[in-house]
Amino acid sequence: MNIVVLIKQVPEIELVKVDEAANSVVLPSGPGVVNPFDEFAVEEGLRLREKHGGKVTVLTVGSERAESALRDCLALGVDAAYLITDPLFDKSDPQAVGRILAAGLRKLGEYDLIIAGKQAVDDDSAQVPGAVAAFLDVPQAMFVKKVEAVDGGKAKLLRTTEEGYDVVEVTLPMVMSVVKEINEPRLPSLKGKMMAKKTPITKWSAADIGLDGALVGANSLTKVVKVSPPPPRQQGEMISGETPEEIAEKLYQKLKDKQAL
Ligand SMILES: Cc1cc2nc3c(=O)[nH]c(=O)nc-3n(C[C@H](O)[C@H](O)[C@H](O)COP(=O)(O)OP(=O)(O)OC[C@H]3O[C@@H](n4cnc5c(N)ncnc54)[C@H](O)[C@@H]3O)c2cc1C
Repeated sequence: MNIVVLIKQVPEIELVKVDEAANSVVLPSGPGVVNPFDEFAVEEGLRLREKHGGKVTVLTVGSERAESALRDCLALGVDAAYLITDPLFDKSDPQAVGRILAAGLRKLGEYDLIIAGKQAVDDDSAQVPGAVAAFLDVPQAMFVKKVEAVDGGKAKLLRTTEEGYDVVEVTLPMVMSVVKEINEPRLPSLKGKMMAKKTPITKWSAADIGLDGALVGANSLTKVVKVSPPPPRQQGEMISGETPEEIAEKLYQKLKDKQAL
């Protein structure tokens, strides 16, 4: 089975700042990390390969810096890594990123299962996996918490809903996004880390995947109108009292007064 995992390099989220005057998000200069939800996607790919055989490939759209995120995945045991990078892709909105990834997947040619994280922790749009499925014209299942079976060209999946979960059967090739309940990601071994340093990473430009600037990069259809930080948190209140019972009683009254009970 050919499994492709879509991974995004994200900045260390607590270092991200909003510059309201410049209407922009200021990212830290460090290399960043693999989007935490994508670690579950990589792990699921590796487990499915262990069960069914085949190959796990990781694919990302990003700057040259994203190479380090791909190497982190190679250290975990994925077979191949691809970086799609081109200045033409700067300022891509999530639909454009979906378009670029779909073009890369078409060039890759072999995919049965495309696995993504449920969302990236920096931009949080949760749109990319659905966009990739739409551009490839393949089915999708989002927020998957368990892969029950993959057999006969179909995957049986449990996908999380607000009320519980749905059991769905989806024809391959397909795109799924996964939630963190799906597994517990492994840690890299020393041998894996050494191998990852030596494994070549294939880099593709816009021309390599047959794209010009149309509908991607600065020609994305979304424009950011305003960026603002969340309002500062209001000061909390300490409730004091002689005994825990007294404190609990005061808390109870306050919640009741606010009609929170
Ligand atoms: C108008 C506009 C301009 C923007 N300009 C820029 C810019 O100049 N530079 C910039 O860095 N960002 C820019 N962004 C943000 C960028 O569009 C998003 O980071 C990107 O589309 C992914 O969206 P997300 O992080 O919300 O992904 P989600 O949809 O939340 O991610 C879900 C999953 O999709 C997969 N995925 C997401 N992104 C990628 C990727 N790049 N490669 C592989 N897999 C991926 C991962 O598996 C991830 O877990 C811009 C956004 C807008 C709206």
